[in-house]
Amino acid sequence: METQKQFKRRFSFEFFPPKTDKGWEKLQGVRNQLAEVDPDFFSVTFGAGGSTRDRTVQTVLDLHKRGVSTAPHLSCVGATRDGIAELLDIYRENGVNRIVALRGDMPSGMGAAGELRYANELVSFIREHSGDTFNLEVAAYPEFHPQARTAEDDLKNFARKVEAGANSAITQYFFNADSYFYFIDRLEKMGVTIPVVPGIMPIVNFSNLTRFSDMCGAEIPRWIRKQLEAYGDDSDSIRKFGEEVVSEMCERLLASGAPGLHFYTLNQAEPSLRIWHNLGLDNRDKISF
Ligand code: FAD
Repeated sequence: METQKQFKRRFSFEFFPPKTDKGWEKLQGVRNQLAEVDPDFFSVTFGAGGSTRDRTVQTVLDLHKRGVSTAPHLSCVGATRDGIAELLDIYRENGVNRIVALRGDMPSGMGAAGELRYANELVSFIREHSGDTFNLEVAAYPEFHPQARTAEDDLKNFARKVEAGANSAITQYFFNADSYFYFIDRLEKMGVTIPVVPGIMPIVNFSNLTRFSDMCGAEIPRWIRKQLEAYGDDSDSIRKFGEEVVSEMCERLLASGAPGLHFYTLNQAEPSLRIWHNLGLDNRDKISF
């Protein structure tokens, strides 16, 4: 973890672009609550294959102009170089300076793979087209990407994204801090030393969390799963237990040198804010860990 300690900590919140007017209104409230804690940036997801293209652009530009620097996610699966270039130009013209560059997962049965196959190709293309305009974030997988042939391959593929020009990374969420420490150790041994910021998923709802985790290959440790199962419909207990487990993990990550946290908010402010307050991040220059 030594290399991670040299980086300045940064804190960010991720949203998805709302589909309805009601969702849009809700996001405005969530945005206002989270802007108060002065995060380094917000980010907005992108539906692979372009399904949320216009909504992502609209959400990013709205959040960005209202004062918190906002980073669009951009995935290359199913996209053309021209289509990506068009988006890059829109973002540049509007002062956006950070992009989360991803391959994405094409929904089954939807269209062709696109002109760029992997995220490292997207990073190269963005550098080719936009030079150093954007700070480029890429995805990292402490528990390894579900499609990786081997752990070794996945690490090498991560390194390709860094070689292509990624500045920093955000991880898939995890509930086992050791997987993150081990991942960082392996990167250090390979000489890959960019900030890798843990992605944090607050635990709010057991069935949604299980569904998501199965899809993205994130493991819910047995002791957590069993405890959550035992709470059944008791959402208060799930929330309290989840908050405690995730806050403790975040404290351990930061104390060990993680260069910040990125919260998957699912467009809810409270679950992330409770962890934030537990960690004392309101006075983040003064925290002792
Ligand atoms: P890649 O880095 O391209 O890796 C994908 C797989 O291919 C891995 O198994 C890797 O080992 C392998 N691979 C990579 N490069 C090569 C190569 N050159 N040759 C052979 N194999 C290779 N999805 C969305 O649709 N929208 C979002 O907004 C979104 N946001 C995300 C944000 C974060 C922080 C994270 C962690 C994930 C996000 N995802 C999002 C999910 C992501 O798109 C999926 O996990 C996707 O399956 C992989 O994307 P990637 O950018 O990691 O792909």
